[in-house]
Amino acid sequence: MNIILFGPPAAGKGTQAKRLVSERGFVQLSTGDMLRAARSAGTELGQRVAAIMDSGQLVSDAIVIELIEDQLDTHKDAAGFIFDGFPRTVPQAEALDATLAKRDMEVDAVIRLRVDEDALLERVTKRYEEQGREDDNPETFKKRIEAYNAQTAPLLPIYAERKKLVEVDGMGTIESVAGEIDSALDRKKGGATEKPGFFARLFGKS
Ligand code: AMP
Repeated sequence: MNIILFGPPAAGKGTQAKRLVSERGFVQLSTGDMLRAARSAGTELGQRVAAIMDSGQLVSDAIVIELIEDQLDTHKDAAGFIFDGFPRTVPQAEALDATLAKRDMEVDAVIRLRVDEDALLERVTKRYEEQGREDDNPETFKKRIEAYNAQTAPLLPIYAERKKLVEVDGMGTIESVAGEIDSALDRKKGGATEKPGFFARLFGKS
């Protein structure tokens, strides 16, 4: 089963993804974690994306798509993937469909963590104090929220139309959010889906 954990920055996607990894044996693919690892390792990629990440903007689609494809190849025998922070744009979502289809897979569910933006700012201020992530400072965080609303949120109606979208209240405790996700996934196992190719039809591409 392949799941997208969807929601604005600091909605709790990473926490829930890690739980699903330990409880269900899925592989978490977080493009944010991969980019931060590249920066810590001082790779050429890490140096290239540093300023963009620190400004709260999105790095190019090509970069994150390549990271995801490498990981899909690395974990060929995974029980399933949890995409965390990817896709964040329409081209990324199209690329994900295409690359999964090549591997005889598809997106099975998109779990949206619904959160309140003011509460997020509080969460992130705390994380900034604890972890010192430059892009968590309040000014940059507002830019990240803007990027989410402008470039990522438009994916929601698309996945809703494909009957992939499941809405979960992300403002509860970690345990209550986990419980909602678990029941949503169990329901989804037998649920209706649209085949890949949907984006191609929607955007008139062949
Ligand atoms: P995150 O930890 O997922 O919020 O990601 C931190 C930063 O990494 C984002 O603000 C972007 O600059 C970059 N990033 C992570 N994932 C993506 C993505 N799928 N597309 C573009 N940029 C990304």
